[in-house]
Amino acid sequence: MAAACHRAHRDPASVTLVAVSKGQPPEVVRAAADLGLSLFGENKVQEAKAKIPLCPGRLRWHLIGHLQTNKARDAVHFFEMIHSVDSLRLAEEIQRQADKAAKQVSVLLEVNVAGEASKFGYRPDALLDELSALNALPRLEIHGLMTMAPWSPDPEKARPHFRRLRELKQECEQRLGAPLAHLSMGMTGDFEVAIEEGATLVRIGTALFGERPRHTPLGPSAA
Ligand SMILES: *Cc1c(COP(=O)(O)O)cnc(C)c1O
Repeated sequence: MAAACHRAHRDPASVTLVAVSKGQPPEVVRAAADLGLSLFGENKVQEAKAKIPLCPGRLRWHLIGHLQTNKARDAVHFFEMIHSVDSLRLAEEIQRQADKAAKQVSVLLEVNVAGEASKFGYRPDALLDELSALNALPRLEIHGLMTMAPWSPDPEKARPHFRRLRELKQECEQRLGAPLAHLSMGMTGDFEVAIEEGATLVRIGTALFGERPRHTPLGPSAA
């Protein structure tokens, strides 16, 4: 990460590592925390709900995976930020649950930049159409955009998608009349390119923890 920041003439402090602990047991999280990591990412609410109470209380957690409306209540309770808001319906449910909990919720809007059928996230034009309605929800604080690039063994293939997300953030900022702090983009295979293109949050699992166990120790119901 530091090398990529150096190449891009960026301050290393401007990029934050989200350690993706999905599929890893609490012992692995604890070991990572002992080494100084403090921000962890989970992609499933059920798994996180079982795991987080078994981990040190000082850790911070981001939800990076798709969120179903019926899990919004738990998501609001367990996570400091939700990276995966991808519809007005979901945003309205988060608003409702946040209101009940008397909380503000930090969110990112997930964008399917490449238009892959297999991925969640707004199409860029649909995001721009719904932006003002999303921004009108008083309990939601929109901090930026998130994307996953299509999988490829060549990280350079991800670059145009990351660049497009950065441009889309600028369009959103113009429409909102306010800056957005975050671009959540870049995983094990492509985080250096993402940093070169402006990522402020990189979500890395495999490079930190190795290949994920096929079944989580919390059991198949948590998967
Ligand atoms: C699993 C996951 C990651 C981390 O992927 P790695 O390739 O293991 O670094 C990042 N973002 C999301 C949304 C994920 O689900």
